[in-house]
Amino acid sequence: MNETVFLLLGSNLGDRGALLDEAARRLTGTPGLTLTAASSTYASSPAECPPGSPDFLNRVLKMECSLSPLGLLDITQKIETDLGRTGKGTNAPRPIDIDIILFGDRILRTERLEIPHPRMKRRPFVLVPLAEVAPEAVDPATRRPFADFIPPESLQDVVKCEEPVHDR
Ligand code: ADP
Ligand code: MG
Repeated sequence: MNETVFLLLGSNLGDRGALLDEAARRLTGTPGLTLTAASSTYASSPAECPPGSPDFLNRVLKMECSLSPLGLLDITQKIETDLGRTGKGTNAPRPIDIDIILFGDRILRTERLEIPHPRMKRRPFVLVPLAEVAPEAVDPATRRPFADFIPPESLQDVVKCEEPVHDR
């Protein structure tokens, strides 16, 4: 059975735009995953990172998925590793981060995987690109629209980029 999943791609190290493109290309090439929509790329300052970290670029992908949640996590983690993520610490600068933010209407709370992503509601850099591709998306636990969690003042901190985005 296919379910609609939303993934958040993030990068704040290296050629960030190219890394987002390559992660999206690898996901789209994975059997069991079909891309149906992609948000624009957004830049935001790395509020939860060590001082001096480069800005984050983020993009949300909407995909149809016939994999299990853990099967999808295996795929996203392999792509992170293959694209140079060394896994040293949450919030450290990283070439690529792939988070599963929503998986159909499922609610999962396991040690390896939590869906909806536990921190998405307080992260405008997740909610703003999500609202672009799925303005109607609701929290499966409360049925509240995720768009309601975007503080209006955060819109100036999550800036839509001109495409294509490339670092030298
Ligand atoms: P963050 O994305 O919040 O900066 P990390 O990417 O460093 O944090 O966290 C990776 C860990 O988060 C992995 O060990 C993975 O098992 C776990 N995890 C739990 N829920 C999810 C999810 N929904 N998507 C991706 N990873 C998740
Ligand atoms: Mg992550």
